[in-house]
Amino acid sequence: MEASLEEVQMIERLGVRIETGVEVQALDELRARFDAVFLGIGLGRTPALGIPGEEHILDGLDYIEQSKLDPAAMKIGRSVVVIGAGNTAIDCATVAKRLGASRVTLAYRGSEEGVRAYPHEVDFIRREGVEFRFHAQPSRVVVEGGVVTGLACGDFILPADQIVKAIGQQKLPGFGVALERGFVRVNDEFETSVPGVYAGGDCIRVKNAASTVMAVQDGKLAAQAIDRSFRG
Ligand SMILES: Cc1cc2nc3c(=O)[nH]c(=O)nc-3n(C[C@H](O)[C@H](O)[C@H](O)COP(=O)(O)OP(=O)(O)OC[C@H]3O[C@@H](n4cnc5c(N)ncnc54)[C@H](O)[C@@H]3O)c2cc1C
Repeated sequence: MEASLEEVQMIERLGVRIETGVEVQALDELRARFDAVFLGIGLGRTPALGIPGEEHILDGLDYIEQSKLDPAAMKIGRSVVVIGAGNTAIDCATVAKRLGASRVTLAYRGSEEGVRAYPHEVDFIRREGVEFRFHAQPSRVVVEGGVVTGLACGDFILPADQIVKAIGQQKLPGFGVALERGFVRVNDEFETSVPGVYAGGDCIRVKNAASTVMAVQDGKLAAQAIDRSFRG
């Protein structure tokens, strides 16, 4: 956290002006005011599963955020089911286990071969005692007397008093630039289909492997490309 804030101060010292609390809705105004625009909008929230009882399911991104901001205030279930099998699901399972859950199960709709989390992270949580349940397609949350008691997955029920979903992130609207499978399409110079509008980071990662280092590298390469375009 401290290192990130130091970096923010560093770019401010370089003359970058930061405006917070602003949601950009369209690019017209920005394009009129600036010679180039870079989109680093990342990805959106966790999508809905669309199953009965979903209002009882916690959002994995919020779960992780809370664990960083105020872990002592978190209510962790005794028996936690995390829906998903990507790196966010692994983080949720780790939070649950480390903060006191006695049983943590990852429920994944596919087979073991389809797990998208890094293998070393899968090994890590298995060593932590987290179990995997494959071919578990959630169909409804089981609630008895207003209390969550399980997650029904077709013809079986996984017992749970807390359910967390970590099933990926929605793509954000692309501001009128061309998209590929919901991600912003860029050329080798990180320029989108709209001249003068560049993009990088998670919002262009159509192949799904996304990390902070990749986003930072995109930003540097796009900045160089923008500089080249000005110099002709
Ligand atoms: C749970 C989890 C764990 C992760 N762990 C790791 C890890 O351990 N190591 C690693 O390298 N990577 C990790 N990642 C991935 C990493 O967080 C991303 O790859 C990285 O943050 C991408 O950076 P970005 O700048 O593209 O997008 P983001 O960091 O998502 O930033 C996008 C920003 O744009 C803002 N924004 C979006 N739309 C608008 C708009 N219309 N107007 C104004 N602002 C807008 C958003 O609010 C956000 O602040 C993790 C991701 C998740 C979800």
